[in-house]
Amino acid sequence: MEDEEGPDCGKADFVLLDQVTMEDFMENLKLRFEKGRIYTYIGEVLVSVNPYQELPLYGPEAIARYQGRELYERPPHLYAVANAAYRAMKRRSRDTCIVISGESGAGKTEASKHIMQYIAAVTNPSQRAEVERVKDVLLKSTCVLEAFGNARTNRNHNSSRFGKYMDINFDFKGDPVGGHIHSYLLEKSRVLKQHVGERNFHAFYQLLRGSEDEMLRELHLQRNPALYNFTRQGAGLSALETDEKSHHQAVTEAMRVIGFSPEEVGSVHRILAAILHLGNIEFVETEEDTLEQGSLAVTEEVLVDHVAELTATPRELVLRCLLARTVASGGREVIEKGHTAAEASYARDACAKAVYQRLFEWVVDRINGVMEPRGRDPRRDGKDTVIGVLDIYGFEVFPVNSFEQFCINYCNEKLQQLFIQLILKQEQEEYEREGITWQSVSARAHPTRLWAVRERAGKQTCGGRPGRAGAQQGRCGRGWLAGLGSCLLALPQVEYFNNATIVELVERPHRGILAVLDEACSTAGPITDRIFLQTLDTHHRHHPHYTSRQLCPTDKTMEFGRDFRIKHYAGDVTYSVEGFIDKNRDSLFQDFKRLLYNSTDPTLKAMWPDGQQDITEVTKRPLTAGTLFKNSMVALVENLASKEPFYIRCIKPNEDKVAARLDEGHCRHQVAYLGLLENVRVRRAGFASRQPYPRFLLRYKMTCEYTWPNHLLGSDKAAVGALLEQHGLQGDVAFGHSKLFIRSPQTLVTLEQGRARLI
Ligand code: ADP
Ligand code: MG
Repeated sequence: MEDEEGPDCGKADFVLLDQVTMEDFMENLKLRFEKGRIYTYIGEVLVSVNPYQELPLYGPEAIARYQGRELYERPPHLYAVANAAYRAMKRRSRDTCIVISGESGAGKTEASKHIMQYIAAVTNPSQRAEVERVKDVLLKSTCVLEAFGNARTNRNHNSSRFGKYMDINFDFKGDPVGGHIHSYLLEKSRVLKQHVGERNFHAFYQLLRGSEDEMLRELHLQRNPALYNFTRQGAGLSALETDEKSHHQAVTEAMRVIGFSPEEVGSVHRILAAILHLGNIEFVETEEDTLEQGSLAVTEEVLVDHVAELTATPRELVLRCLLARTVASGGREVIEKGHTAAEASYARDACAKAVYQRLFEWVVDRINGVMEPRGRDPRRDGKDTVIGVLDIYGFEVFPVNSFEQFCINYCNEKLQQLFIQLILKQEQEEYEREGITWQSVSARAHPTRLWAVRERAGKQTCGGRPGRAGAQQGRCGRGWLAGLGSCLLALPQVEYFNNATIVELVERPHRGILAVLDEACSTAGPITDRIFLQTLDTHHRHHPHYTSRQLCPTDKTMEFGRDFRIKHYAGDVTYSVEGFIDKNRDSLFQDFKRLLYNSTDPTLKAMWPDGQQDITEVTKRPLTAGTLFKNSMVALVENLASKEPFYIRCIKPNEDKVAARLDEGHCRHQVAYLGLLENVRVRRAGFASRQPYPRFLLRYKMTCEYTWPNHLLGSDKAAVGALLEQHGLQGDVAFGHSKLFIRSPQTLVTLEQGRARLI
């Protein structure tokens, strides 16, 4: 593959580095980046660096070059990984998944789009209409979800503010016949508030700037986003008007293709407009205390008219919901309790956030509805196989970190843990699949080393003493170690950080941070974020990954009674507990829910099934935001673990979003926390390289008289054996059923040198 890339492009696989040090890793990464080689392997893991410029790497011709090829036949590419996942799914009927990780702006979403494009391009050669329809929906769904779920942030102009996992179902022919999208934790607080330089979700600007005049009039909107509280903060309003217009058209067209009816699209626009009007409603406390409205009034009544009209609800009820709430006062009694101005603003904001979230979820559900595999019967059609693509928010650290960052970083801890487990498990499975019998090495030569897994003080180790190996067997997959029996193999120790202890800190029942938070949220009476923090301090004062100002009074980077800090695998993050309880409770007054459920707009009504309940029936506390998120993460990880994984590890080259600049310090940090060096070491500790026999021959047959130009040895496997014997390299390899396993990189280097002398 290096030939195709040309000379001096560095190693296309980090496993081939002469030494595995950060310096060597960075040098190779940088060299390749400078030559426009943004992709590099670590075995089957693809490391990708965001080029921040259009490179001629994609499109139909490139796709054709990768289609049906083995992973290493061509230079590293997303298409190669997509192809490998697709082939594993098709040939071996294995469910596979492609996990894309990296920090915000590292190129995850772009990568997922290229993967989808690859899959769309190589499937359905017979042009079946239903398959084409599914492919269309799959591709178009991205555009719609980006409009509603992405926003301009300081780190990425098109940042996904939700996590996305998409399953694509394939029939026995390997054609997509359906799909399903799971979305995770939309950052709905963005509807209300944006940081300097950031924007609200794209959909609002597209509506304002992209709609025809007449439509804007119908929605009672003006074109200028600076007129609305929810779209005037931050900055970044300078985007070209024409741009928003073309996006608006593209999204509306995509919705049409997917199957949204014109009425539904109309409802979506009206809901967005209602949110904008809602954001401009303000409250004043008046002198007079009328019976219906207490002493509170809205400053601009016409906005209430607009909200009522756009949500198809009665005006008086909208006003009542804004100014007061009904509360159950024992039994079936209900009383109305007037808001203060602060309470009313809070309720208005909660309503705006909730309406947007429900809208987003409805859009996802609606897309899922049309992607559901249609009329398929497993007995007749065989079981579908699935490729899952995960594009989820990366690790986040801001000057002030809140509940959202806490959830996002917890998610990254979970995924990192899965990565650790899967890398090891995958190695084991490959050896089993290939029927590798492990060569014993002399116990004298390597008296204490055994392929094993060991964990010490948060460090996990591959390689170790025989005695301990058994004790740790359960942790890293029983079958694997058991399968290897007691065979000895000289393997260097690879230490890597096992973050299980941090995951536990967050999700452990009763004492974990989420459990303590839930406990605080269910406490009757006034409870403050500060009390929550105190409870955390009590429970975790000795935890190696937890601290706070209270526990570490000299550390002035944290604030007393406000901050706690977690030592994440990716670095330290200080969280402010302000708003944790409120965001976790995530409550909305039942009055709003009932109001919207009773809307005469069927689309809006469908988003609020829980509005059906009467206030006196709403007794059961709904699950908190934190618990819902945790449950969805546990389910996600279970799902991913059941599939054959492929990993894309994305790296952001610089903070300024500029092309052709790789900021070393910035990348080093990412390489470190993504565990890429350990990944290379684990890979090298087993077998540095594995290659199917035909491919190996293709590359090296000229170095041996028995194999050049063609061999007569019966099988490729035998020919490879002869070749290696001639070079005296047979001691460093194992022969699998279909692949050759090469243990030390030096063997590859020798082979490469032999080849270089001849060409
Ligand atoms: P993430 O999803 O990781 O936050 P994105 O995939 O949205 O990041 O990428 C951020 C931006 O970087 C994109 O909008 C695009 O401008 C640029 N980018 C990412 N990947 C590529 C690529 N392969 N080629 C060119 N530009 C890219
Ligand atoms: Mg993204």
